[in-house]
Amino acid sequence: MNILLTNDDGIYAPGIRALEKELRQIGEVTLVAPLVEQSGVGHSVTFLTPVVVRKEYVGDQFRGWAVEGSPADCVKLGLFEFCPQKPDLVVSGINGGLNAGINVLYSGTVAAAIEGAFFGLTSIAVSLEYNEHAEFARAASLARRVIEQLLAQKGPEPQLYNVNIPSAAVAQEPGDSTTSAAKVVPMGLDRYGESYEKRIDPRGRPYYWATNDPPPRPGQIETDCSELAKGFVTVTPLDFDLTKHQYLAKMRDWHIKL
Ligand code: MN
Repeated sequence: MNILLTNDDGIYAPGIRALEKELRQIGEVTLVAPLVEQSGVGHSVTFLTPVVVRKEYVGDQFRGWAVEGSPADCVKLGLFEFCPQKPDLVVSGINGGLNAGINVLYSGTVAAAIEGAFFGLTSIAVSLEYNEHAEFARAASLARRVIEQLLAQKGPEPQLYNVNIPSAAVAQEPGDSTTSAAKVVPMGLDRYGESYEKRIDPRGRPYYWATNDPPPRPGQIETDCSELAKGFVTVTPLDFDLTKHQYLAKMRDWHIKL
């Protein structure tokens, strides 16, 4: 199996190192990742400036390509330039921080997976709950088990998945708890309680800094947000078709004149 691996935390992030180690056990990995952290850049692409790429080595061992661009740039470049052949799988992560609920739409990690899906490739985004002492090695081993099962069961069509791992799921031994099965759930749609903190700089000018408020309280419906809060690993199948098809059918009768 040929795997294109990327992330949005950058090629030196611990999450991608851990996942790289696991994925190299199940396939040939082509690593193409941003040189510096790109968290929150969403699906941005670089086209006004050149994209500089350099080869990264561990000692004298070639590791992958470090791209001065976004996660989506990495997938495009990886597929057009660096993968020896069309990969069977695109993996993005492990991100340091969950990508659940509407954060999926801000996420560079998920955007890289979506970019892979644009090319008709099965693509999987993997994120781990933020923790100063995040156990990426254990999360990566868990992620590999999930990825192998998704691939075994998904059928012939390419699919796009978003996998999130809460800290609680990493802390426990495999198979020894009620949260040992992943939950397949839809993406939560609640808005996060984000706001801005207003501060004053040394010259008396106001500036603003986005706060990192906790996610909304889980509602009645089971979503990635609600189940992650309970300590479950979540898997959400995604699609990038943003058309509201049912409404489109109704709108066809509108006869909008010019
Ligand atoms: Mn990130």
